Amino acid sequence: MAEHNGIRTKVAAGVITGIILAVLSYFSQALWPHIRRSLVWFCDAVWSWLSSGHSIYGWLLVIFILCTAICGFVLVAALFFRVSPNNWRSYRRDIFFGIVWRWEYHGERIGNPLPYCIHCDTELIPNEDCNPDRSGIQRLTRYICDHCHVTVQELDESFRQTQDKVVRQIDRKLRSDEWKKTLSDATDNG
Ligand SMILES: [Zn+2]
Repeated sequence: MAEHNGIRTKVAAGVITGIILAVLSYFSQALWPHIRRSLVWFCDAVWSWLSSGHSIYGWLLVIFILCTAICGFVLVAALFFRVSPNNWRSYRRDIFFGIVWRWEYHGERIGNPLPYCIHCDTELIPNEDCNPDRSGIQRLTRYICDHCHVTVQELDESFRQTQDKVVRQIDRKLRSDEWKKTLSDATDNG
């Protein structure tokens, strides 16, 4: 019984498809000359507009050319810097000494990296202090997150010294191509 139902459904589907195809073919044959005439008319109109001369102010033409050049340049730059994952300038975040660091590039130079909380990604407050001991005065920097209300890290040096160390690490990873792995790991982890 189920087999008969299946055959009947298949026959019905075949008949309906045939009817739809016949109707479509009839209308396409009837409509095609109109569609073709419209297309030819449209192409003619576009071509005659393009090929005829237009009086336009020189300054307006200069603005059009400048806008086109700027748009083209922006598009190419966006494609080059954002789409290409192999661009070293995309490497602008890494973790060093238990802290997330972010930085910009000024030309070829690495800008001053800034510290961020490894837990909540808030920018950290580097609080410098002096820690006097028997060997003299030891500098100490506490990295405080005012969102987590914790000291994320304590390093026995000034903030400037740590920034310089981070810049040297970034420079090392850029030269050794290690940045590619860091970037692809970060992309994989979202
Ligand atoms: Zn935090």
